[in-house]
Amino acid sequence: MYKPSDKRYDNMTYNRVGNSGLKLPAISLGLWNNFGEPDSFENQRAMLTRAFDLGITHFDLANNYGPPAGSAEENFGRILKKDFAGFRDELVISSKAGFHMWDGPYGDWGSKKYLVSSLDQSLKRMDLDYVDIFYHHRPDPDTPLEETMQALDLIVKQGKALYVGISNYDAEQTKQAINILKEQKTPFIIHQASYSMLNRWVEESLLDVLKSNGAGAIAFVPLAQGLLTSKYLKGVPKDSRASKAHIPFLNEKDIKEDVINKVIELNEMARLRDQSLAQMALAWVLRDETVSSALIGASKVSQIEENVKTLDNLHFSSDELAKINDILKDN
Ligand code: NDP
Repeated sequence: MYKPSDKRYDNMTYNRVGNSGLKLPAISLGLWNNFGEPDSFENQRAMLTRAFDLGITHFDLANNYGPPAGSAEENFGRILKKDFAGFRDELVISSKAGFHMWDGPYGDWGSKKYLVSSLDQSLKRMDLDYVDIFYHHRPDPDTPLEETMQALDLIVKQGKALYVGISNYDAEQTKQAINILKEQKTPFIIHQASYSMLNRWVEESLLDVLKSNGAGAIAFVPLAQGLLTSKYLKGVPKDSRASKAHIPFLNEKDIKEDVINKVIELNEMARLRDQSLAQMALAWVLRDETVSSALIGASKVSQIEENVKTLDNLHFSSDELAKINDILKDN
């Protein structure tokens, strides 16, 4: 029987999301990988309970996380019941719809039909009455943006989500979405965007768009799926994501020599800061106050423990930032 640690709020930092009332832990945990059917249920429980003991109050899901799609929400629902009964109000749980979920014309993209029914399915799988944040997972080139934003508004009015967000929208699409959401008075607070030392697109204008509209960001894949750790410096370890055939998103062939050469230099910088590279990479995405949280993934409890220790040193000198820019310059 899991009993949460009494010290769980002692060391975590909680950042306000834009101008909203909601605070997110600086480190959040996503269930995209390692929470599906092929993955040990006991390891899933161990990771979620340890994360909560370390102050991670935010767990991020989507309808299609697994494999198979839906199984991460199912497993999460089972763990909520088993281990987190009585703690729902201490958790921020998010889900999303936008990628292929079921066959036919209503199980993908951004129609009101898809978003409303997909969230109903997610709530059933997790056995929840509501999620805290519901995201549209990617822009839909065919559905009018007004319809997708109206769907998000409806979902809030139905009491099925408290706040809404968007993900994978570029800066211009984000501006347009925000204009509609503002008119509707929909509680839009957050953009879930890919952001890491190896992927800096949000710096061009998205972060400014969010900031000027009082919204926040949560950075997904902040460790570049593990590339921004020391794990791939000497080849591909057996139990790593790049070695797992059922995870198609990072393959051995994606690990290029020029990237590893940068990672070696970054690793040395992290050592000089008395941090692991994972910790330095997470601290780096958190340096802009628009980024409320770094949304990590993990396959082991020890990774969550290491990553939460990022908070011991979030400061970068201007020299260090310049050196990092220099290392990353041809990226
Ligand atoms: P990360 O970049 O944090 O990569 C996580 C992986 O890196 C882990 O599974 C583990 O892989 C490895 N790792 C983590 N910490 C360490 C460590 N300290 N030392 C060594 N290796 C480590 O993020 P993810 O790619 O997992 O994505 C995080 C979350 O972002 C997802 O769960 C999801 O919630 C969200 N997301 C959202 C998307 C969107 O479109 N909105 C798209 C993708 C993700 P290993 O298996 O090798 O141990």
